[in-house]
Amino acid sequence: MAASGSVIELRKSRVRAAAMQLEVAVKCVAACVQQVNGPELGELLIQIREAGIDPLEAAFATGVRRFDKSGEYAADGALSVTAWLKWKCKLSGGAAAERVEIGKQLERLPKTEEAFARGDLGYQHVAVIARTAENVGAAAVRTEERNFLKAAQSMDPGQFTTVAKNFEHRVDAAGALAEANRAYHRRYLHVGDPQDGIVRIDGLLDAEGGATVRAALTTQMKPIKDDDRTHGQRFADALVEFCRQGSGGKRDSSGPRPHLIIRASLDALAGIPGAPAGELEGGGTVPSETVQRHACDSALIRMTGRTELEHERNQASRTLRASTRRALEARDRRCVWPGCGRPAVWCDGHHLVWWTRGGESSLPNLALLCRPHHRQVHEGGWSLERRKEQWLVQPPGEIPVRVHARRE
Ligand SMILES: [Zn+2]
Ligand SMILES: [Zn+2]
Repeated sequence: MAASGSVIELRKSRVRAAAMQLEVAVKCVAACVQQVNGPELGELLIQIREAGIDPLEAAFATGVRRFDKSGEYAADGALSVTAWLKWKCKLSGGAAAERVEIGKQLERLPKTEEAFARGDLGYQHVAVIARTAENVGAAAVRTEERNFLKAAQSMDPGQFTTVAKNFEHRVDAAGALAEANRAYHRRYLHVGDPQDGIVRIDGLLDAEGGATVRAALTTQMKPIKDDDRTHGQRFADALVEFCRQGSGGKRDSSGPRPHLIIRASLDALAGIPGAPAGELEGGGTVPSETVQRHACDSALIRMTGRTELEHERNQASRTLRASTRRALEARDRRCVWPGCGRPAVWCDGHHLVWWTRGGESSLPNLALLCRPHHRQVHEGGWSLERRKEQWLVQPPGEIPVRVHARRE
């Protein structure tokens, strides 16, 4: 039965009143965030989640469920409540679908719904419970609901997911296997083409693949002394390093040899202004400084623009002989950069007087440098020199400040 005009007006004024009160509360909290400090600020942040965001998410989920059942979203022309949420509430497809699912499952999980509304359960924990209910049925989750709520109090969402997945496996091993197989089936990795010097990588792995990658990269991402790289940067460096070491090149005494081919003119190698960039075989360009770093030791560089004879001569002189590399590793043992110490297998043989400037590939002119520090010298403009038995580094335009005794 259609509501009368006065009933509709009453509802509209209730929505307006609720929205105004919400606005006042949000303004009060936003002002408070600017004014308090220390432990009080911490307490406020906790309250924002427990008394604000989580109970509001609970109310939102209930509202979404009722709105879905009413079919009212169709009045705006949306084909589903998820589509309506994306459009009107500015949520991503995943975020919208998650809230719809939470709304559905909470109807069958009253204890969880109550705890969520009270602010005793965080949104992400509720999302985990809802996913589990979706996978094994709300009835099965209800038998374990009390334990779930207890576990959620003391665990972060990641730990809590493990508890939920264990439960799913206990009550529905075949379902858990099917989910693992679905996850495995969805795996992919995309390495984009370079754009503005950036290559975007994205992908999905199943849990085992993800854990394998994380474990492998973690071994290579320990921070070094005075490391100012972010966690994400260390992760990225570890990935590149791992691929460099495993790229099918020889891991003999001359170090790993990745199949990285750069086409460069001699002008680029010499760093002459106006020289074209180096071209990576497989796409993308790199600046002269990067060409010079690779010329120092590792990559294959195909020269263009001058005579083959010159190419051959240069190619021969810059590549470290295995015996020279062995002697270099025996002397330096690891990256010589102050405080670094990455092992020799991660290092290039850097020419102190650059090979591109006529430096020789002989021991007195060489130093082991890990790739990030080798990059710091060539692309970063730092200088490295040995005075007596010590290694000195200095940033571009500064006096040497850090001294490092050579490890013997
Ligand atoms: Zn170098
Ligand atoms: Zn280093």
